Amino acid sequence: MKVSVDRDLCYGSAECAHRAPTVFEFVDGYGVVRPGREQAGEEPEVLEAVEKCPSQAITLTEAPRSAPDGP
Ligand code: SF4
Repeated sequence: MKVSVDRDLCYGSAECAHRAPTVFEFVDGYGVVRPGREQAGEEPEVLEAVEKCPSQAITLTEAPRSAPDGP
């Protein structure tokens, strides 16, 4: 699962960076996903951060599947 933060919704509580500091950081007043950690959406602390984000700014989306092997 891909994790992302919608900056338009985030109001900078820093809750995500507090709960999952290896995945989120707090930059310029916003929570952001650390570079290279975009696929960390299934980690328990990320799920907790999603649940606890007061503005529901954190989104999990299915990572695109790799191309099928074909018939
Ligand atoms: S928990 Fe939500 S509102 Fe708070 S900094 Fe993170 S994304 Fe923004």
